[in-house]
Formats: sequence, structure tokens, C-alpha cells
Amino acid sequence: MRRIDLIILHCSATKAGQHYSFRRCKEDHLLRGWADIGYHFYITCNGQVHEGRPLWMAGAHCRGYNKHSIGICYEGGIDATGHAADTRTLEQRQSLRALLTRLHDQYPAAVIMGHRDLSPDRNRDGRITPDEWLKQCPAFDAIEEYIDLQPARLVDARSDAF
Ligand SMILES: [Zn+2]
Repeated sequence: MRRIDLIILHCSATKAGQHYSFRRCKEDHLLRGWADIGYHFYITCNGQVHEGRPLWMAGAHCRGYNKHSIGICYEGGIDATGHAADTRTLEQRQSLRALLTRLHDQYPAAVIMGHRDLSPDRNRDGRITPDEWLKQCPAFDAIEEYIDLQPARLVDARSDAF
């Protein structure tokens, strides 16, 4: 089994109300010449959790971090005006939390982060700030939202900072 130290959340960067199915996402990734869809899980607007790559296989979703991570993507992430926005439906939020709870039990040492949180720390202050984000993905603060599902060491490190 792979060592997993990160669970990385993504959005499909499609407009709210505009569907981008699991099948289409998979087909698009296969067209890039990949072995399978890049993510391990894909959550459509109806809250359905689609299983992508098997967990034992490294994903293709975040350059430099694929080897030791799990990639989860939700359908959406762009509002009607074309701006990055947390467009998750209630069903998506519920499914995502249930999935993360299950993965946290299985991989208690894995930190849950958004794709944007893995942008390079250009000013080297140890924090990834909005001006450093390469992308908005997944358009919400994953570290904060799932703080109750983070490994104890991360929660300790954060409380020390205050
Ligand atoms: Zn992403």
C-alpha cells in the first residue's frame, strides 16, 4: 500500500448548473494519454461519489504530490459569472464530509488540503496566502473546513501559532 500523507481537494472548474459528468471527466483524462481518470474520487452535483483510480495507484491531479496523496474532485467551482466560487451543493458537502471521515479513519496522519494550498510559497513565510495561489481550486478553505478531521499534529501546530 502507498504511504498517504495528503488528501487533496479539487473542483472540476465547471460552472454551477453546467454538468461535467464522471464519464466525461474520465474520457478527457484518457485523451491526455493517462491510464485512468486522474482522481481517486469524483463527486457529482447530486452528491454521488464516483470511484476513480484505485487507492493503491498514484493519481494524476497535483504535480509533485501525486505519489503520496489521494485526489478528490467535486463537479463545479465556477459561478454563473465565470468566477471561482464554492458551488458545492448540500448533497456534495454531505458526501464529501462522509468520504473524508472514512478516509481520515483509514489514514489518520493525512492532512486535508485544497489544491491551491499546495502553490509555491514564493515569499517563504511558511504560509500559502491568496496572492500565491496558482489556481483558486477548490474555491474554499479545505484546511479550515475539515479541521476536525485533520491529524492531531496539524491542529497542535496551528494552535501554537496563536
Ligand atoms: Zn485542482
